[in-house]
Amino acid sequence: QPTVRFEDVHFAYDPSRPILQGVSFDIPAGKTVAVVGPSGAGKSTLSRLLFRFYDIQQGRVTIAGQDIRAVTQQSLRRAIGIVPQDTVLFNDTVAYNIAYGRPDATQAEVEQAARAAHIHGFIAATPKGYATMVGERGLKLSGGEKQRVAIARTLLKNPPILIFDEATSALDSANERAIQAELRQVAQGKTTLVIAHRLSTVVDAHEILVMEAGRIVERGTHAQLLAAG
Ligand code: ADP
Ligand code: ADP
Repeated sequence: QPTVRFEDVHFAYDPSRPILQGVSFDIPAGKTVAVVGPSGAGKSTLSRLLFRFYDIQQGRVTIAGQDIRAVTQQSLRRAIGIVPQDTVLFNDTVAYNIAYGRPDATQAEVEQAARAAHIHGFIAATPKGYATMVGERGLKLSGGEKQRVAIARTLLKNPPILIFDEATSALDSANERAIQAELRQVAQGKTTLVIAHRLSTVVDAHEILVMEAGRIVERGTHAQLLAAG
């Protein structure tokens, strides 16, 4: 797996209002680094920059030592999987939603991913050979089920780099714990950036970064941050 590195990253959506002001950190190959901090601190901006939705104004972001500006958008998309807070599903079959991003996937691969995410029941084939529709006249999925679709999609895509952007924040506590446990499994051995609200949910991260107003103001393991108060 690749190492992800942010080196003195400065970024503003609007030049008159700096957002990130010299952010540096590494996600070592196959490790999970978590970012916590108040709303508006710039946490999600990190994930948008890694995906190159925006270009940084100063500094460098590298994947396996390569500047992401030198990587094609296509290979960047292939390398990174995102589980967002609210997964927006297409008005199509559950199978289509799982295979989105991997149109070459076989039905057997889609079913295997669905089974691993515990949503296999939703993609049962209909007489026409289509899996159950999501949306208007089809299935209404709960928040937890939607996140399971996102997990199945990520498992099928199997990218080396993962971003979980408050992936469980919108769920009730029963679902939250179940999906958190599954996300930890999915992240095993992957280079993972976890964006979280609370320190208590990222206990086992390799390193936790505390962000405030576009800067990292504290960093360390969970135990170190607790000891520092
Ligand atoms: P966090 O994830 O920590 O809540 P964000 O990275 O989403 O913070 O946002 C950081 C700051 O950037 C916020 O002040 C937000 O209002 C601003 N911001 C986010 N997205 C945009 C955008 N597309 N255009 C302009 N400002 C934005
Ligand atoms: P909260 O708002 O409760 O702090 P979030 O939903 O914002 O939590 O973000 C925490 C997310 O990160 C959860 O989805 C959780 O499953 C995931 N997560 C936490 N620690 C790890 C880890 N070590 N590896 C992978 N995912 C993790």
